[in-house]
Amino acid sequence: MSRDPRYDILFEPVRIGPVVAQNRFFQVPHCCGMGHARPQTAAVMRGIKAEGGWAVVATEECDIHHSSDVSPYIEHRLWNDDDIAQHALMVDAVHAHGALAAIELAHSGRMAPNHFTRTVPVGASAGPNPGYDPVAARELTRRDIRELRGIYRKAAIRAKSAGFDIVYVYAAHMLALPAQFLSKRYNQRTDEYGGSLENRARFLKELIIDAKEAVGDRCGIAVRWMMDEMMGDAGLQCNEEGIEVVSMLAELPDLWDVNVSDWDNDSATSRFQPEGFQERYVSAVKQVTTKPVVGVGRFTSPDAMVAQLKRGVLDMIGAARPSIADPFLPRKIEQGRLEDIRECIGCNICVSGDYTMTPIRCTQNPTMGEEWRRGWHPEIIPPAGSRDTVLIIGAGPAGLECATALGKRGYEVTLADAREEFGGRVIDESGLPGLSAWRRVRDYRLGQLHQLANVELYPSSEMSFSNIADFGADQVVIATGARWRSDGVGREHHVAMPGAEQSFVLSPDDIMSGVKLADTIVIYDDDHFYMGGVIAELARTYGANVTLVTPAADVSHWTHYTLEQRAIQERLAELGVDLRVQWSMQSVGDHVAEFACMYSDRVMTLPCDNLIMVTSRRSDDRLYRHCMAKLSELKDAGVAAVSHIGDCVAPGTIAAAVYSGHLWARQLGEDSHGAELPFTRELIDITA
Ligand code: ADP
Ligand code: SF4
Repeated sequence: MSRDPRYDILFEPVRIGPVVAQNRFFQVPHCCGMGHARPQTAAVMRGIKAEGGWAVVATEECDIHHSSDVSPYIEHRLWNDDDIAQHALMVDAVHAHGALAAIELAHSGRMAPNHFTRTVPVGASAGPNPGYDPVAARELTRRDIRELRGIYRKAAIRAKSAGFDIVYVYAAHMLALPAQFLSKRYNQRTDEYGGSLENRARFLKELIIDAKEAVGDRCGIAVRWMMDEMMGDAGLQCNEEGIEVVSMLAELPDLWDVNVSDWDNDSATSRFQPEGFQERYVSAVKQVTTKPVVGVGRFTSPDAMVAQLKRGVLDMIGAARPSIADPFLPRKIEQGRLEDIRECIGCNICVSGDYTMTPIRCTQNPTMGEEWRRGWHPEIIPPAGSRDTVLIIGAGPAGLECATALGKRGYEVTLADAREEFGGRVIDESGLPGLSAWRRVRDYRLGQLHQLANVELYPSSEMSFSNIADFGADQVVIATGARWRSDGVGREHHVAMPGAEQSFVLSPDDIMSGVKLADTIVIYDDDHFYMGGVIAELARTYGANVTLVTPAADVSHWTHYTLEQRAIQERLAELGVDLRVQWSMQSVGDHVAEFACMYSDRVMTLPCDNLIMVTSRRSDDRLYRHCMAKLSELKDAGVAAVSHIGDCVAPGTIAAAVYSGHLWARQLGEDSHGAELPFTRELIDITA
């Protein structure tokens, strides 16, 4: 297959100062929880992006000095010459596929707590660390600023010697010191670096000039710039200082990479922002510079990309998440294989890797983060290692992924689900407010399965023990998922709550199956991810009076890791949901629930027509246990083994279910005996 001529424009080269990108696909910097601690893991992951057709592949944030130490977060470092070799690994992996390697040089200024280095943080002005760390920054003197410019210059030279083609001056998000200089909130200086916009922009301008002088002969100099802080008058705004800064510096760098600040606004989830949502900010920059402009916006549709290029919004399609969900996105467009694109669902599970200081993971792409340590490639999977036939029961994320990966390996697979529609939980959840993109988990896999002649699909096929015995596959994989509990068992309560068996007490599954809600609703959220907040939103749209009670200090607490917590709490407050935090459920009476304060003797009684328990899920492993109890009967019928995967083993994220299905499929017929660990670790060389 070849590409549709409509998309030719996406494959035009773009000059970035002294270097040329072979097409318009630009993997902008994104965190990955690898950085200085896992350089081989990072290098192979980035190299695969280059192989997938991204013309430019960038690192994550790379701190240039020990006064910019963001520990415990794991980013890259270029503190001295010792760090160069790590970076060369990534550069070589990217160059091997003809792509350009970019590095995002960063100093986090006042935002760096320096827990590891114990260096006193520095800032444009003195002041406390905004992250609630008990540290404060001292103000940089003019001499310090001169020295810091030298440190940036040295970092650029080190980047060049590592082989990078593009060197960034990072001034987007308040994490970056040049952005802090520009901000009236963080800069109250009275010298030539404070006061007027021209003064506040001086540091950024000097850094761009310095980088050009230092490495501009061979490297393109990019600026990552925030156009708006999305906080109105309190912050930088697109049509005021945002655009004035760009106008002032328009032709200085070789490329503008534009976004909005802070990271939660920039990487907004699909629950809060649609594809292409940053257009207004990106196009404003394009109007005042002749230099190439990169913009992001969770682009997965080539038509949307072409439309933005043709309308003059941008010159290069920037992507972090779409390149994580599908490292081969450009290649698939180039080869005319649009139906094979694994579209990002905008869930930000990838971000949670960085926040938990572990390698990145992705809901849609189970190989993300596993490229080096397990040797997994997103597009290549080894052929079948045995001649087993496989029956998979349950076509949720786990069963669908298992069938897809096994099918691609060439196994004979049968996938059966009790329901008429495949997809399991993602189909149910995609009907909830803001979660429609969840369907893509199902749609991508179903699209792939329809191309595989060796996989048979059986919807509307509830499987029992005797069906399994009659079917007689060599391998039986049970992927029957999990169900929400309504008995109150969650993080606070470990045994069922008396009274919870009454019919006015509901679970999220009841709501998703269409149970009609009454007027006064109490939601008890002891799950802490997105479901409690989503159900509250849904109930408000039906016009119910809604109170959301949680033992945590804020609602949907775990969504801090997906950058959504603030947006969720804001939305619920705007919708008029009554939020009661730090209350633990004590008992359930007749249309009434009792709560106790987490820290005092206070109690709270809330009458309600419906009480919705969003507390935890329980594996639906009845069929699996039945099979295991009568395994000898199945063996007599020709079944060699019965396994279970996904939520049926233990309820988790959709990403975990997809990964579980993929892992099982990769391992079938492979001999892993003798391996003490399931993957390779990056060990520190103590001989050095
Ligand atoms: P996971 O997240 O682990 O993939 P889900 O809960 O999303 O799990 O999906 C489980 C799927 O299993 C659902 O679509 C459900 O209809 C199906 N299922 C459960 N029990 C049976 C059964 N006995 N026979 C066929 N399908 C089943
Ligand atoms: Fe997209 Fe979710 Fe994957 Fe991140 S984890 S790349 S948001 S699908």
